[in-house]
Amino acid sequence: MPYSPHPFHWVPAGGARHASADEKHAVGNYPTGTAVTTLCGDGVIAENTAVAWLWPTCATCNAEAHRLAGAQMSSARTRREFGKDGR
Ligand SMILES: [Zn+2]
Repeated sequence: MPYSPHPFHWVPAGGARHASADEKHAVGNYPTGTAVTTLCGDGVIAENTAVAWLWPTCATCNAEAHRLAGAQMSSARTRREFGKDGR
């Protein structure tokens, strides 16, 4: 297993940049056309194009990604920084 700092990856799909905990492909993360389950609960089809990466970030996925990242980090300093934004 390669080291992965967070158990999710960003994937542009359906007009927004979502995050997904689905296992990504070895090349290109989630190629266009990949069915992906996002952290916000949507089932979407990845659109891995240059324009798609400019779409706005899904707020629900962003919040969930921060929560997952905070839970993954063990240092007290980092936990404080994540805690103070009042999630
Ligand atoms: Zn989302």
